[in-house]
Amino acid sequence: MTSRRDFIKKSAFASAFVLGGLPKFGKAKALTYSTNVRKPIVLSTWGHGIPANDAAWKVLSSGGRALDAVEQGVMVTEADPKNTSVGLGGTPDRDGHVTLDASIMDEKGNAGSVAFLEHILHPISVARAVMEKTPHVMLVGEGAYQFALENGFKRSAQEMSPEMKVAWEKWKTENHYQPVIDKNNHDTIGMVAMDANGDVSGSCTTSGLGWKIRGRVGDSPIIGAGMYADNEVGAACATGLGEAVIKICGSHLIVELMRNGKTPQEACEEAVKRIAKKQSNYKTFQVGFLALNKNGDIGAYAIGKGFNYALAVNGENKLFDSDYLVKE
Ligand code: ASP
Repeated sequence: MTSRRDFIKKSAFASAFVLGGLPKFGKAKALTYSTNVRKPIVLSTWGHGIPANDAAWKVLSSGGRALDAVEQGVMVTEADPKNTSVGLGGTPDRDGHVTLDASIMDEKGNAGSVAFLEHILHPISVARAVMEKTPHVMLVGEGAYQFALENGFKRSAQEMSPEMKVAWEKWKTENHYQPVIDKNNHDTIGMVAMDANGDVSGSCTTSGLGWKIRGRVGDSPIIGAGMYADNEVGAACATGLGEAVIKICGSHLIVELMRNGKTPQEACEEAVKRIAKKQSNYKTFQVGFLALNKNGDIGAYAIGKGFNYALAVNGENKLFDSDYLVKE
């Protein structure tokens, strides 16, 4: 029996042969896909991906657009005041301010993002408004906040929870106001989906690294770092230490690797290995990637143990443990 992977490879070979040899620079390589595509499909990072996928699935299973699915999916996570890594319930910066980063991309290659945004419940929807209502891709800080208000978003009254205040005081005492890079203090939601039409979109939203320096922006709102979608190929998203992901343009790298014939799993593994090759302290932090191609094949890979993801397909939504690089 021909596996999907073999099918893609064989098809790519056949196309190259028909076109008269290997693809040449400057010519787009013909991408061919299985007729047996798994769709609709949605996957997202971490355990909070389960309720997020449920919301996304409602859109997808009723024939809705992947873009609406990835927005409505992560809005569930943003609205959860108990979530300490996404939305206004998130871990603050070292001065006690919760600052939010988010990005979104549609099947046409349009992109929008916000960074260093405060007091807004749904940064992902502000990112979508940037994409759809402005000629820009990214708005930050006070400007992003003003834009949100002008576009009907309300300032949220949500404040730091008493538990978070205690944690912040404790952190300040123990860490002497110095941001620490470790395997904790982060857990973005990144989501990638393909709808029944075969269109792919992605989203990513986070309160970023806990106790960061005020003004720090991670990978999540940077198109191509925390998330990337290309309707010819598929989509990818990231979680973990944003600085490490930005340095390799992680999600864009994965999509380009898939474009050049890697499976989603191979592409995620290569991106993690790229971090390990270039960043000698890679064992001290965590990064996890998810990828989806246009066949509905998926990939997941992390630096260390503990990364998991939620996958909803064929009406089932389940949590899976990701494979990882550092096994000792
Ligand atoms: N990637 C996010 C950041 O660096 C953190 C996370 O994944 O939780 O801001």
